[in-house]
Amino acid sequence: MSVSVRIVPGCFQIALFVAIGVCGLSTTTTVRAQTDSTLTRVRLSGVEQGQAEFALYYSPGYGERAEKVSRLLSDADEFLRDSLGVRAEIALAVLAEPEWQAVWPGPYGIPYLSLGRPWVVVVPAEPANSVVFPGISQAVGHAGASTMIDNIGFHEVGHAYISEYLYPQSWTDAPPVRWLDEFFAQYLAYAFLSTVSPERAAVWDDYTRLSLEAMDPPLKSLEEFDREYYGYLLTEEGSANYAWYQSVFAKRAAEVYRVRGIGFLRDVKEQLNWSRFADWTTKEVLSQLNEIVPGFAGWAPEADE
Ligand SMILES: [Zn+2]
Repeated sequence: MSVSVRIVPGCFQIALFVAIGVCGLSTTTTVRAQTDSTLTRVRLSGVEQGQAEFALYYSPGYGERAEKVSRLLSDADEFLRDSLGVRAEIALAVLAEPEWQAVWPGPYGIPYLSLGRPWVVVVPAEPANSVVFPGISQAVGHAGASTMIDNIGFHEVGHAYISEYLYPQSWTDAPPVRWLDEFFAQYLAYAFLSTVSPERAAVWDDYTRLSLEAMDPPLKSLEEFDREYYGYLLTEEGSANYAWYQSVFAKRAAEVYRVRGIGFLRDVKEQLNWSRFADWTTKEVLSQLNEIVPGFAGWAPEADE
């Protein structure tokens, strides 16, 4: 059986669609709904099910971890619902490596979000086995790395909320400025952490600062981010470069949030030219953002010569 579905880009989930050859889908696309939905694949992966703040799906033996992550993320869910006045219906999957690979054959342990509704936040059952754990722990230690990997879960909740808030209907194709969606997800994660969870925010800030000081990745520009988003950056090899970009976004998000708060996103919603977002270029978006908050014009990292 096949049905017509809308595709709303999430985060790492995009890579799955590359892997199965349906990337670059237009507004309506026929896919096998029963096999392509993240939730369906999670259910078929051998998980157990439960219910806490969210519907829970977890690898056998990880019920307690699932409940802990659920409590964490539900605080962000509530904060973003109140801040933005929209609601994202979220389910949570907490997966060990076998179930992770059954759902998405990408690097283990980098949290991601389903490609659209129903929103499913997928996080590792074993953060210490995440491919990004060694790199993050070099910056903020083992305990800090576990905190940071859970913090990425807030970024994924942020993706669901920014989609519901800014483009619940229209952002149905792969947008040409992928980095913008990632920036917004970092913005909402920072908004939550800095307002509600200062201890976690301190780890977030430390990691952001230290990773930017320590890393000199091959790709630096926003154009390269968009060009490689569907490939290199989502591989195990590219994951450190991807993490560096997220720190660039986190740093700018913190700067803007400190002066404009959540109102920045209200301005973005009102002032950006959403009717033609499919044609946006990075230069044009930066110029529009600069009208809302000065500093975007000179912010974007340049490619190495
Ligand atoms: Zn993301």
